[in-house]
Formats: sequence, structure tokens, C-alpha cells
Amino acid sequence: MADINSAPIKSEVMEKIVALCKRRGFIYPGSEIYGGLANTYDYGPVGTELLRNIKNLWWKYFIQERSDMVGLDASLISHHKIWEASGHTAGFADAMVDCKSCKSRYRADHLIEDFIEGNEDNLEKFPEKFNSLEKSLKDKLLESISAAKVEGLSIEELTILVEKLGISCPNCGKKDWTSIRKFNQLFPVQLGIVEGEQGQAYLRGETAQGIFINFTNVVNSNRVRLPFGIGQIGKSFRNEITLGNSVFRTIEFEQGEIEYFFDPEVTDWEKAYEEWKKTMDTFVTKKLGVKGSNLRWRPHTDEERSFYSQRTEDLEYKFPFGFKELWGLAYRTNYDLNQHREFSKKELSIVDPQTQKKIVPHVIEPAVGINRLLLMTLVDAYEETEGRIVLKLDPKIAPYKVAVFPLLANKEPLVAKAQEIFNELKKDLMVVLDDRGNIGKRYLAQDEIGTPWCVTVDFESLDDGMVTVRDRDTKEQPRVSIADLHDYFAKRLT
Ligand code: ATP
Repeated sequence: MADINSAPIKSEVMEKIVALCKRRGFIYPGSEIYGGLANTYDYGPVGTELLRNIKNLWWKYFIQERSDMVGLDASLISHHKIWEASGHTAGFADAMVDCKSCKSRYRADHLIEDFIEGNEDNLEKFPEKFNSLEKSLKDKLLESISAAKVEGLSIEELTILVEKLGISCPNCGKKDWTSIRKFNQLFPVQLGIVEGEQGQAYLRGETAQGIFINFTNVVNSNRVRLPFGIGQIGKSFRNEITLGNSVFRTIEFEQGEIEYFFDPEVTDWEKAYEEWKKTMDTFVTKKLGVKGSNLRWRPHTDEERSFYSQRTEDLEYKFPFGFKELWGLAYRTNYDLNQHREFSKKELSIVDPQTQKKIVPHVIEPAVGINRLLLMTLVDAYEETEGRIVLKLDPKIAPYKVAVFPLLANKEPLVAKAQEIFNELKKDLMVVLDDRGNIGKRYLAQDEIGTPWCVTVDFESLDDGMVTVRDRDTKEQPRVSIADLHDYFAKRLT
């Protein structure tokens, strides 16, 4: 794989969050002791809990609690024909450009969009630079500039933009670019046991195709009836060129994707689409506890939207590096099933039990990156007052719900009581026992990883069976009976 240069993280807050993630065990750079491997990350003990909590919530909300959804866990390595049918081998390519001077590599569309966003105050200066162009091309490019979205433009159009806007390399400031060229994002895999073309497989570039190719399997083995959805969470792989905003864009990441199948003659797609928008909003604000004011919906431009999609919108979050896509919502018609019908020569349809009509259903696809959700929760929860960091994560997703402290680490009865409480609470909750340093330092450490409650066992506890429960956000410290602790937390977590 090419050694891709990551430009520096632009925002100070982002730098602090990245440092916190490393210091406290959320996220580490991948392959670090060997000098790192660009665009890969490992999740530490605390990050792993956060990631798992987000995935569990997604699964509970979108699969477990609905009667019209079922789950799937398809293979990561898949047949090359899947990706030919889906159009990925031919079209899943980014336009990339290199700086000849410092060898930094960029995705051309991101380079241009970042330039436009950084020059919002100078937008009125741009049109005259395009006067020499034919009117329709000029209008198209100016429209892309005003929307700050150039995804979907051709290589020629991107080249004109880089040239006319006079974009220089964000790393070294030079304007010495290679030509812009396409770069396919799929990771090929050669299977050892199979000869020739049949041995050629791919790491999946998205989880969605695993759903389409298993459509008939699911229909034949489960009691499903239109409209219904199939959802899955799992890893996807894309050979990405990124700008180093932590786990926002990585080459290996987890997706939570749903294909919601329906008969367009029975289900009003526009209504279904609006319902999915509401459901996604609710998940982000109510389940993950993220501030609604940091979210917005952005419809795709005509160039950006796939030709088969009738409507696509992105739910975007205001990251420190700008509003960026979190979750895509696309009405994809029945394009994907039809493609697989054609390539596999298999009947991918469902029969209406009442009318006996054979239907190749249409889909609405909500597709999210779980790691982006995680980064969003960290950014949204990050608060700093007078140099003190508190991660105000929703208790539902906080890595540890409770930290248990003996007031003093060298007093055996206190340690034994704390251990006893820890043993009891950990049966149902993710709990941590901490006896390092003084209480103040322990609070600080727990605040930084977003633990909502800290329980301290002091000498009085040994007599009256009560402990202090300190609340991360209100800083209140009520005394609670040890016997009631379980219910105390259970009530606050539901
Ligand atoms: P982008 O425009 O940011 O590259 P996309 O439109 O290619 O994303 P989709 O193919 O629609 O993304 O994938 C669905 C979701 O998967 C995205 O909304 C995003 O949250 C997530 N995702 C896509 N690529 C990556 C990646 N390289 N790293 C992390 N998450 C990703």
C-alpha cells in the first residue's frame, strides 16, 4: 500500500481530543511500535467499550426493538462478481493528486472542498476566474463551488478547479501538482486454494452488498413480509486517502447498514424516507445523547447522487474540521437487486402471499460508519473548563458506568468493602475499581473517560453501610445505601 501522507489535524480541539484518546486508552495509532501504518487505528480498553456500547445500541434500536427488521452477518471476503455487479470494480474510485514537491497525496475533491471552505469570505472573487470557460461548464463549476461540494465532477472538471482556484499544497504551500488520476478503493485478495480468476476476491468495500446477495436466503429461511429490512454491523475496507482526522476516515472501519425493502406500488417511498430521517435523528440525539444543534441534513447535489438514486441526503455532524457526513440515506430503487439478478442469473424476488405477484423490491438504505458515530460522541461530549476535561458522554454509552474507590488504598477494610461493591455491581454493569493516587486525581481520571458516577467507600461506610456517589455532571455527592446501589444506577440508566 502506498505510504500516504497525512496532513496535520487542523483544529486545536481535535488535537486535544486525539491526545486524550491516546492518553486514556480510547484510540491508539495502528502498528505504532513499527512507526505506524497510515489511516489505521487500534481501540484501547476504554475505546473498545465505547465502540461496543454504540454497536449494541444500534443493534437494539434498529433490529431488536423492531418487528420489521432482521439481522445478518455476511462474509468480509467476497466473490469478485459481487463487486462487478455492484459497479465497484469499475467505478469505486477516488480522484487523487500528489504534490510533486513534498509528496503529500490528497483526494482531489477534498483538497478543493477544504480550499473552498477555508475561503468562504472570498467566494465573490471566484467567478471571474472562470470567464474563459464555456457558459454551461462555468455555471456547473460555480454551482459546485457555492455548495462546497465537488464530489462527482469529472477528472477534467476537478483539474480546472485546482488550476483556476490556484490551490496550493496545504502541507508545503507549493503549486506543483501531478495530474489528477483515479484510484480504485477496493482491496483485492488472492485466495490461495483456488486457481486463476476464481481465486480473485475482494475485502468488502461496504456491508450492503452482503445484504443484497443474501436477499433470497433471508426470504426463504425467515418469516418476512414487505416492507421489511435487513441490517448488519461489520467491517468494511477502502483504500482511502485521508487527511488524518483520527478515525473519521480509515481504511478499515465498521458500518451499520440497513436495506429496507418495499413494494413501491404499496409503500409511499417519500413517506418511508421521511420516517427514516426521523428515526436516524432520534438515534443520534436520544440514544447517543448528541446535541441536535450540531446536526444538519444535506441533500446530495445532482452530480454527487448516484444515477439510480431518486433521493439521497446525508445527516452531517459539525466536527471541529467542519460539517461532515455521518450517515447517508439513499432511495436506491431496485437497482442493486436487478444488477445481481443480471450478473448471477438468479431470481432475487419475493412473492406477495395475497396477490402471488413477484416483486423485485425497492430499497431505502440508511448507512452509517460506527467509528464516525464514536468520534462524534467524543467531540460532542468534550468539555474543558480551566484546563480540566470532562467527557459528558451519555451514561448509556459511557465505557464504565461506575468507578469504585476505597478512600485510602492502604486500609484493608476499605479496600475489601470496595472490592465487595465492585464484585456485586460488575455482574450487570461495566465497573472499574481504582485505588491509585488521591480521590481528586481519581475523579479527574474518571471525568476524562466520561464515567458518570464514582462511589467512594470511607470509614463511615464500614459503620453505616452508606457510600458517597459523586455525579460527573452535577458534582453532587449524595450518600446512598450500599444495598440500594444497584437500583440507584439501574434507574438512572433507563
Ligand atoms: P464519504 O463521502 O465520507 O467518503 P461515502 O459517501 O463514501 O462517505 P458511504 O459509502 O455512503 O460513504 O458509506 C456509509 C457510511 O460509512 C458513511 O456515511 C460513513 O459514515 C461511513 N464511512 C464511509 N467510508 C468510511 C471510512 N473510510 N472510514 C470511516 N467511515 C466511513
